[in-house]
Amino acid sequence: MSNFDELYREIILDHYRSPRNRGELPSPPALRVEGFNPLCGDEIVAYLQIDDGVLSDIKLTGQGCSISQASCSMMSSTVKGKTLDQVREAIKNFKQLMTVHATTLQENGQPVEADLRTLGELAALQGVVKFPVRIKCATLAWNTLSQGLDDYGAP
Ligand code: ZN
Repeated sequence: MSNFDELYREIILDHYRSPRNRGELPSPPALRVEGFNPLCGDEIVAYLQIDDGVLSDIKLTGQGCSISQASCSMMSSTVKGKTLDQVREAIKNFKQLMTVHATTLQENGQPVEADLRTLGELAALQGVVKFPVRIKCATLAWNTLSQGLDDYGAP
């Protein structure tokens, strides 16, 4: 196992064991949106508090594999407090990470260094592109967030 893999594993396990923004928000006013990944049995419920175009608070509950739950935690700490435009940008970037990088990993399987700098902890999830069945686990949180924004309506 490379140092990269080791580091990523630690980041994912840390979020799995100590999930950020775990819990519920009163709904309404918060938006409640559910996500389910039948391939793995992962399920999450996201609560989004949106005020004046800002995702001012986000809480999540759910259960499932370590990748899905760690991804929830990482997603929530990435988007909390951001404007909806920034949130949409983050969703787009993450989905790109899960698709594009399958072909841009270096030959030795390690991600290019630039990704670490721009994506921070999220780069840890890049490792799952090597295991296509886990991609749905990693993207569940983001798809659910995206669904929530769609429910909320256009900006
Ligand atoms: Zn899963």
